[in-house]
Amino acid sequence: MRVPVATKSHQYEVVLGHQFLTKAIQGFADKLEKADKLIVLTDANVWAAQGEYFTLNFPYDFEVFILPGGEACKTFEQYNAAQTFLLEQKCSRKSFIFAFGGGAVGDLTGFVAATYMRGIPFIQIPTTILAHDSAVGGKTAINHPLGKNMIGAFYQPEGVIYDTAFLASLSEREIRSGTAELIKHAMISDRLWLEELMAADSVLHFNQHELAEQLKKGIEVKAHIVAEDETEQSVRKFLNLGHTYGHAIEAAAGYGKVAHGEAVMIGLVYCLLLSEQYGKLDRAFTTAFLQFAIKNGYPFEAVYEYSFEQLTTYLMKDKKTEYGILQFVLLEEIGKPVVQAIDLAQCQEVDAEYRKLLA
Ligand code: NAD
Ligand code: ZN
Repeated sequence: MRVPVATKSHQYEVVLGHQFLTKAIQGFADKLEKADKLIVLTDANVWAAQGEYFTLNFPYDFEVFILPGGEACKTFEQYNAAQTFLLEQKCSRKSFIFAFGGGAVGDLTGFVAATYMRGIPFIQIPTTILAHDSAVGGKTAINHPLGKNMIGAFYQPEGVIYDTAFLASLSEREIRSGTAELIKHAMISDRLWLEELMAADSVLHFNQHELAEQLKKGIEVKAHIVAEDETEQSVRKFLNLGHTYGHAIEAAAGYGKVAHGEAVMIGLVYCLLLSEQYGKLDRAFTTAFLQFAIKNGYPFEAVYEYSFEQLTTYLMKDKKTEYGILQFVLLEEIGKPVVQAIDLAQCQEVDAEYRKLLA
């Protein structure tokens, strides 16, 4: 399966398949055969779980640099270490980098590629469900002690190779986390798709064929949006549905305790409650969606663990907050996102409502 991504700065494709790594890499033979060096950046967990399959199926010589697992790779120290590795390997502008991992490796590697010698080409090889989102669209970043994803660049890959064989070693928690972004993509684009997801016995146990179909739909939504708005001036903001409140929960917990997508799911329910005041969605829908999320094991107990005052610090730090007014993505109805300015008092009322609903 192929999904074209046509942004203003660059055009490329996401190719999606199962156990097709060799063939997919060979699709880039023209460019790779001209490269003077191929470098793979990955993290320790991904390499332990999938390094063997990768090595057996990667059709060219490469050098690998192994980062610490997950979010721990998105630091200045690891950015520096990766750049040092590229310099030691005498990489040039003719070299090629592969980001082999989840969203964390993808974000770090993209930023390394964007800045090494002012930019060298890279290919995303995502290994998580969440990365159907993060590997597409060219947002790259590392974290600063004062804020997540604060240092980065818009920099598109040469392509994205999504081999679903890599997903076999994901924990249930990581499947749950990544699936929240799929659900988000359904909510901002397609009511029937969302209803289909909500009717499934479980969204965590799709078979390989179903999962590939779901991922393709999610990638299409993302590709469509970034084609229209690469640098988040307009419709790309819609991808932040659930993220304002979600990020506050994720940050209050200390990154890693509540997984990104788990926090996003908590934020999606918050946005539904807020949306009730503006559009056509009602409490019956919010309740049904909450039941669906609980059935799939999303950890709503996190909402009780932090007071609204604790969340406020992080809500105010949101990149979209201006002059103390928060910008929330809400839904007029399913498939119709809108950006709405909300003041803190209203946020607090809805937060209180949320806590009552969960009690
Ligand atoms: P991740 O990359 O941290 O991976 C989650 C965990 O699973 C890590 O411990 C990782 O080592 C491990 N892992 C990854 N693939 C595995 C596999 N196949 N088998 C076994 N273990 C595996 O997390 P993620 O959820 O993929 O991505 C989250 C990151 O993505 C965050 O840093 C977030 O900021 C970023 N993000 C970026 C964008 C974007 O547009 N650039 C969008 C959404 C999220
Ligand atoms: Zn997200």
